[in-house]
Amino acid sequence: MIDTHLFQDKKAVYYTLGCKLNFAETSTLGKYLTGQGIRKALAGEKADFCVVNTCSVTELADKKCRQAIRRIKKQHPEAFMIVTGCYAQLKPEEVSGIEGVDLVLGSNQKMNLLDHLTDKIAVTPIKEAKTFIPSCSKGDRTRYFLKVQDGCDYYCSYCTIPFARGRSRNGKIADLVRMAEQAGREGGKEIVLTGVNIGDFGKTTGETFFDLVQALDKVETIERFRISSIEPNLLTDEIVEFVAHSEKFAPHFHIPLQSGSDDVLKLMRRKYNTAFFKSKIEKIKTLLPDAFIGVDVIVGVRGETDKHFEEAKRFLEELPFSQLHVFTYSERPGTMALQIEPVVSPREKQERSKQLLLLSGEKTKSFYRSQIGTTHKVLFEHTRRDSFMQGFTENYIKIESVYDPNRINQLIDVSLENFNEEQTTFIISLYG
Ligand code: SF4
Repeated sequence: MIDTHLFQDKKAVYYTLGCKLNFAETSTLGKYLTGQGIRKALAGEKADFCVVNTCSVTELADKKCRQAIRRIKKQHPEAFMIVTGCYAQLKPEEVSGIEGVDLVLGSNQKMNLLDHLTDKIAVTPIKEAKTFIPSCSKGDRTRYFLKVQDGCDYYCSYCTIPFARGRSRNGKIADLVRMAEQAGREGGKEIVLTGVNIGDFGKTTGETFFDLVQALDKVETIERFRISSIEPNLLTDEIVEFVAHSEKFAPHFHIPLQSGSDDVLKLMRRKYNTAFFKSKIEKIKTLLPDAFIGVDVIVGVRGETDKHFEEAKRFLEELPFSQLHVFTYSERPGTMALQIEPVVSPREKQERSKQLLLLSGEKTKSFYRSQIGTTHKVLFEHTRRDSFMQGFTENYIKIESVYDPNRINQLIDVSLENFNEEQTTFIISLYG
């Protein structure tokens, strides 16, 4: 039992790297510490605890974590530094060796942080991660993030996430629905469903992701839901059809393709081929012609020859998506991909990434142009850039308008007329 008196007047700062799931978890950690009497430090205050929630998706992510830890330690030299997240789970000794780190917490331990204050490293094998702690948290923007699932059973050849987050597991639909209702009562308008492999939802509760989508659609207090990244083989036709008729689920899909070459998909141990992926996109475009479709791709994986890349690029050129998220392959210790030859040179990786980013820019502009003259509901966020505020429509089009605090977290009907090609945004005047 923790003596919470010990923590009175103590302050914490939080720093999160990586995915939406990490942001949701940091927020849950913050709530937990607040409940124990440790409040969030205000800007300029020196903290007693620093919590860094790390990512380890690439080598660069590890480097950014190390830099962040050193920077935060400089800002809060007296604070007790706690590092958790994927980098901490995968390389606890390395993280513990970073100057200023007091405690390294594994994925199984992070939600019981205060029980480990006398440890130096508290990390147990990820195989033991069986529990699932659902969380619904307000992100740094206006939306809420509902963590519905964690872990992954897929073992794609290049990925370390299953080693960092463990096996696929999820919350119960009834609990998640309650959390969504509560977020709505707190004033939330939009919820993004997050997880590592959300389409795999239901493994531990005997439910399905489609069951979850249907149950959430009935939550009256929330106006909009977004499904975040979902594996193409798990985005079933029934889900696409349901979204097409739903008032609440946004016409916005984020689907990892990873490569437009069938040979490379095999090397990656992905569970579909390009023909399947194309049919999925066509299904979406037929039922939801205005849907925003974001697609993840990785360039420069081991085994991706010039011929494969050219083939992949041609495939992508023909595909009606709205944006590419281009990732450059980075070697991860312990992955099967390390046995594949040939290795792509850093310069070639950079060149391939550049080409796909150019393609992405063209596709996004063309999608925005196709939306000129249409009307949508925009949810304005609280962030301010110069004298402007921004928001997104249900089909994920970025809107900018003159800053007006009364519009924050409001859903407002807008007509898309004034397209700013250079910034890829629509500028809206709300005052006629
Ligand atoms: S589906 Fe593949 S890429 Fe995604 S988390 Fe699982 S193993 Fe990694």
